[in-house]
Amino acid sequence: MPVALVWFRNDLRLNDNPALRMALEEGYTPLPVYIHAPEEEAGWAPGAASNAWRHRSLQALDVDLRARGSALHLRTGPTAAALQDLLGEADAQAVFWNRKYEPATQPRDAALKKQLREQGLRVESANGGLLFEPWDLATGQGTPYRVFTPFWRAARARWRLPSPWQAPVRLPACDVAAPVTLSSLGLMPKRDWDRGFWDAWRPGEAGAREALEIFIDGALRGYREDRDRPDRVGTSRLSPHLHFGEIAPWRVAAALEQARNAANAAEVEAFLRELGWREFAWHLLHHFPHTADRNLNPRFDGFAWATPGAGTLAAWQRGQTGVPIVDAGLRELWATGYMHNRVRMIVASFLTKHLRLHWLHGARWFWDTLVDADLANNTLGWQWTAGTGADAAPYFRVFNPVTQARRFDPHGEYIARWVPELRGLPAAARFAPWESPALVARLAPGYPATPMVDLAEGREAALAAYRSSGD
Ligand code: FAD
Repeated sequence: MPVALVWFRNDLRLNDNPALRMALEEGYTPLPVYIHAPEEEAGWAPGAASNAWRHRSLQALDVDLRARGSALHLRTGPTAAALQDLLGEADAQAVFWNRKYEPATQPRDAALKKQLREQGLRVESANGGLLFEPWDLATGQGTPYRVFTPFWRAARARWRLPSPWQAPVRLPACDVAAPVTLSSLGLMPKRDWDRGFWDAWRPGEAGAREALEIFIDGALRGYREDRDRPDRVGTSRLSPHLHFGEIAPWRVAAALEQARNAANAAEVEAFLRELGWREFAWHLLHHFPHTADRNLNPRFDGFAWATPGAGTLAAWQRGQTGVPIVDAGLRELWATGYMHNRVRMIVASFLTKHLRLHWLHGARWFWDTLVDADLANNTLGWQWTAGTGADAAPYFRVFNPVTQARRFDPHGEYIARWVPELRGLPAAARFAPWESPALVARLAPGYPATPMVDLAEGREAALAAYRSSGD
């Protein structure tokens, strides 16, 4: 059988993998390859937490391939040269891959496709990661959506999930030299700061399936309310699995549709809507590729962001702000590579409003520390919270971290879990410890007596800067 390279990227699974499926259905022997070329990601090379996840995910993919009689072949970039080498070594006649949509990888992949086709090879790419291609949906005027609700209405109107595809239990073997080992890619952190991650996560396709099942059997039932509760396990925790393509979004959506009944229909719909935000994020990044680095709303281009003082950014990054819910979120992130969505919004609002730091400071930190770091979702999340993006919360809507904590962590349990200094305080005093100085001095002496910025003053300064930035 002729050989085809199946080039894995952010589609680290075998089932529901359109590139692998195409290769097999067209009668090729697939040669699974992964090319490590972070320098081709133009300023957004994967961060440390992402790399640590990818290391394990590649390992899991290789195990799954070997169980079927095949194996993953690793190479390092430049991608074009690595592909040429592999084509020559395997005498391959075709290349298949699933599309990536980042601003830097899209043009690279388009150029590669053109060049490889000119060499007379069969080259095909497919949508392996989204329910809709970023260009599939458009407004009545043919322009990109900037507001989520009409985008989602259009998506639901055109809803059609691809049929599931089960990878064969045996794959034909295809061997070329294996000069590159997984450990030589240097994806693992130099210090094992990630050791706490892996109690909570199982990278790879089997881990993704497991997370989906656990969610459907459990948290789905209370999703609408609990998704906002950082003190509960109220969401699916599928985000890194979706980012790395360890499960297809249409497999997730189909499982939810299948689980739908009269009692949980509204929960299912609410969850599908969140998958819709992921689609919207990729739609936006595709149509506005500059937004990973610059404001979508140019009104903010002249905004008077503060210059981070010595220690300001570090205090936020390490969860030492003196605002308990903010510190809890940033410490959860550091310890687990994940932060609850509600708390992401709270810490992002605190950074961009109370500290008035540019959202990119936060986006970069998330990029390095989140296991689900995703250029589209992260950009959307930061620009939305900062007020600079599409369908954004207006800048003048400043989250009050104390009110938010009282509402969404009502017993202060999330705070106590991640800020152990405050565990000794009664729950009611954990949200704003500076209001109970005597208690704090006695029961939580290790925690700052005052927040790094007075919340009312920080809010007013942010609003004043906003007003003076003009319309
Ligand atoms: P669930 O509630 O179970 O949602 C299911 C899936 O829907 C998620 O896995 C995710 O793929 C998608 N989703 C849910 N909420 C959103 C959202 N607001 N925007 C886009 N997609 C969403 N998500 C990332 O995947 N990567 C990021 O880098 C990222 N950065 C963020 C930064 C900020 C400042 C904010 C406010 C949000 C960010 N999000 C990001 C979105 C969201 O916080 C996570 O997707 C969510 O917390 C993941 O947990 P889950 O899988 O349990 O979510």
